[in-house]
Amino acid sequence: MPGIDTTTLQRLDAAHHLHPFNDNAALAKRGTRILTRGEGCYVWDAEGNQLLDAFAGLWCVNVGYGRKELGRVAAHQMDELAYYNSFFQCTTEPTVRLSAKLAELTPHDLNHAFFTNSGSEANDTILRMVRHFWAVQGKPEKFNFISRHDGYHGSTVAGASLGGMKGMHKQGGLPIPGIHHIDPPYWFGDGGEMDEEEYGRVAAKRLEDKILELGPENVAAFIGEPVMGAIGVYIPPRNYWKEIERICRQYDVLLVADEVICGFGRTGNWFAAETFDFRPDVMTLAKGITSGYIPLGAVMFNDRVAEVLATKGGELAHGYTYSGHPVCAAVALENIRILQDEKIIETCRNDTGPYLAEKWKALGEHPLVGEARILGMVGALELVPRKPAREYFPDRGRVGQMCRDFALRSGLILRATNDAMLLSPPLVITKAQVDELAEKTWRALDLTARELG
Ligand code: PLP
Repeated sequence: MPGIDTTTLQRLDAAHHLHPFNDNAALAKRGTRILTRGEGCYVWDAEGNQLLDAFAGLWCVNVGYGRKELGRVAAHQMDELAYYNSFFQCTTEPTVRLSAKLAELTPHDLNHAFFTNSGSEANDTILRMVRHFWAVQGKPEKFNFISRHDGYHGSTVAGASLGGMKGMHKQGGLPIPGIHHIDPPYWFGDGGEMDEEEYGRVAAKRLEDKILELGPENVAAFIGEPVMGAIGVYIPPRNYWKEIERICRQYDVLLVADEVICGFGRTGNWFAAETFDFRPDVMTLAKGITSGYIPLGAVMFNDRVAEVLATKGGELAHGYTYSGHPVCAAVALENIRILQDEKIIETCRNDTGPYLAEKWKALGEHPLVGEARILGMVGALELVPRKPAREYFPDRGRVGQMCRDFALRSGLILRATNDAMLLSPPLVITKAQVDELAEKTWRALDLTARELG
């Protein structure tokens, strides 16, 4: 609809579009923000406002906006072969090349890719494939999954069930049977006086307790986000994942890392399994795999799991029309090439990441900030009524939203979950943009503090 004005678009949107994760009645009154253009770390809305996107869309635009190469490879692939499936003994060249590339990039022996359209579908896939893996080895009772309260693994029935978001479970009668949740590692909320090492052990032991409660012979897998994103960027103690791995091995429980946010550089390495030095059996990917330019998800299986599925599993009764879509695969390959050739992840790890960390930690000096946490290019500010107490505001979420709105008015996109301000910028953010981000965040905090009186 060329030339259509913003007010008309907002009216049509309110009339015809149900938005995910929105109070749609409130949104209809407020009017949707319509984004029109992006370049690097900035986006522009239909009113001409330039916004520094410190959230990379939805944790996904790792290489930044406006990379023409990605559009070019998509157009080229569409011209050559816009679509073919992977079902009937077929595949396409980009899909093969992407499988091999992912096998090369992901750590250890995660050598086998299964393609989906999204992170949610990747997590749905593991629920079925992991149960199948045990069943074909004569252990169908190894059926139960353990995950964390407040975790996020997507919005499909299995994804939301594996996740631990209570608000999501309330809608649609979730979780489905066979999924059990333990408390997450959230030092700010429940670390008490423990040091990092001790808290890491205590938090990981919750997994062992749950395995023993269910019986190890009944437990298929543990799944977790290495850094829990949506709930508020919970960065676990350094020893947490090593402990989790040890426990999984002890009881022969598969370890699944949901790297939908963490993968492709977010924590300063290609994958958070490297950052935390642990060895998943299965890894789920999406978002940064194409920098959000086109939908794609993947599951990486290690040799052990893939071999059982291939040799004992019979026909894999699972797949999507767009599993291994050649255009998405071509875009993913080009996105990975950009990340590699431009050494974007190395720059984050050695240069811009430490700079961002220093500036972000300095925001911890603000009277409203109870904790400033950051790892690589992902972080949070925990807003508190009183320092140094680790307390929450009574009406949780109100202050965070206030701060988010102040930031937006000054041209900065941050996300708020409860009263934590979340950070996840494009990995190409420059030091000058980090300065802008820090300055605008401080101003938003000031305005929030003033509003609170
Ligand atoms: N897993 C994690 C850790 C996520 O953060 C998300 C989305 O934010 C998902 C899975 C679901 O991915 P998608 O929205 O692509 O289905």
